[in-house]
Amino acid sequence: MHEKCGVVGISLEDRDAARPLYYSLYALQHRGQESAGIVTHDGFQQYSHVEMGLVGDAFDPGDLEALNGSNGIGHVRYPTAGSVNACCAQPFSVSFKSGSLGLSHNGNLVNADEIGDELADLGHAFTSDGDTEVIAHDLARNLLEEDLVRAVKRTMNRIHGSYSLTIMHDETVLGVRDPQGNRPLCIGELEDGYVLASESAAIDTLDGELIRDVKPGELVVLHADGTGYDTYQLVEPENTAHCFFEHVYFARPDSTIDENLVYEVRRELGRKLWEESGVESDVVLPVPDSGRAFASGYAEAAQDDGSDIEFAEGLMKNRYVGRTFIMPTQDERERAVRLKLNPIKSTIEGKSVTIIDDSIVRGTTSTQLIKLLKDAGAEEVHVRIGAPPIVAPCYMGIDMASRDELIAGNQSVDEIREEIEADSLSYLSIDAIAETLETSRTDLCLGCVTGEYPYDIEGEATDRDVARPDIGTQSSPADD
Ligand code: AMP
Repeated sequence: MHEKCGVVGISLEDRDAARPLYYSLYALQHRGQESAGIVTHDGFQQYSHVEMGLVGDAFDPGDLEALNGSNGIGHVRYPTAGSVNACCAQPFSVSFKSGSLGLSHNGNLVNADEIGDELADLGHAFTSDGDTEVIAHDLARNLLEEDLVRAVKRTMNRIHGSYSLTIMHDETVLGVRDPQGNRPLCIGELEDGYVLASESAAIDTLDGELIRDVKPGELVVLHADGTGYDTYQLVEPENTAHCFFEHVYFARPDSTIDENLVYEVRRELGRKLWEESGVESDVVLPVPDSGRAFASGYAEAAQDDGSDIEFAEGLMKNRYVGRTFIMPTQDERERAVRLKLNPIKSTIEGKSVTIIDDSIVRGTTSTQLIKLLKDAGAEEVHVRIGAPPIVAPCYMGIDMASRDELIAGNQSVDEIREEIEADSLSYLSIDAIAETLETSRTDLCLGCVTGEYPYDIEGEATDRDVARPDIGTQSSPADD
């Protein structure tokens, strides 16, 4: 089970937390569209509302009014193809001898089965096969013997993998980020309280101020009266393993993650894409929406270099079509690209065109788009991608399809160019990403672009001691 989600936690002085939680889940909707949920506590008891569907559909005004208390957590869950699964909707709640727990989790544990088996032998009964429930039970068990901070530390020492958590222990809201900081989590200040959220855009939505990122290995405990918070560095990380793909695709461009504004990162990656593999053409088109910031950086760098390449919004997106990526069949995914994107003929006809997207996964979008642009009269279509080739699955919380579905899984860049019928194809290098994020490769999780992971995953290599050959980032020009 992979949990790819958005989490939030709020403590307020003297106001119900349900509405601000609801608004912040709206701000995090892009991180999960399968289910949405809120758990609150009013000092006496826990209240919970968790439902399948988008945030706007999962709650009606009555549901929010019934969620009492000025402390609470929320969650949006990301779907994977074919797994519409009500039992995995969150926040996950458990009651135990000395209180109640609610948990929202973004990430994926690599040793959940092992801990789950041990807890089951001790008599814990599980209602799902999700790793969030394993964390909840482990923490509940530790809370029977230890105070809150020590109990969290014990759980952190036991669970391995990626996790950004917001937790409610009775009415106290906590935030925990795994020692490698794989998934984002930040803390912000509101006029009358504090908020923890996967992305700072959720804090902005509440008119709050971002204070900072929660540090890898850190626990943040919000005061239940909304007046402050305490922090504890429970695990000292040697290396981080921040997910670079949050910056490339997953996070909102208006969020700041690990001190970088995502929009500016994408623009800089676009600039570097021009520097590494710029190609002269009449016009540059972003693939909306994800390619937009990359394309504006790319076009700006080209123009700075004296190129008279034109930047145009030549592809229109139908905003009412949902995500094509998770559609179960290839046929449906292909049809959906056509439903979703339509070219503006006047910007394309008779021209050589460069399209810029953040990533190629299965290759469906680029293949369909190139056909579309050629049908609309483009003379040449060049493709530039703001990330390296995706060669391996993600085990840490992002749905990347299985290895044999990935177009770069077993093919060179040249072979991919041929398959998608582009006139040229180049990807961005890993170094450009590390440079832009001002970090070293060893502090990033690059599993999906190297096939080497910063965690021990059965059957996979770890990047802490193995080096694999690179497939490169650029194709040779198309033969006509
Ligand atoms: P594909 O059509 O399979 O090559 O997927 C690439 C397109 O999907 C690009 O336009 C990306 O913006 C988008 N994309 C990349 N990764 C993901 C993901 N994990 N989930 C959903 N969409 C994605």
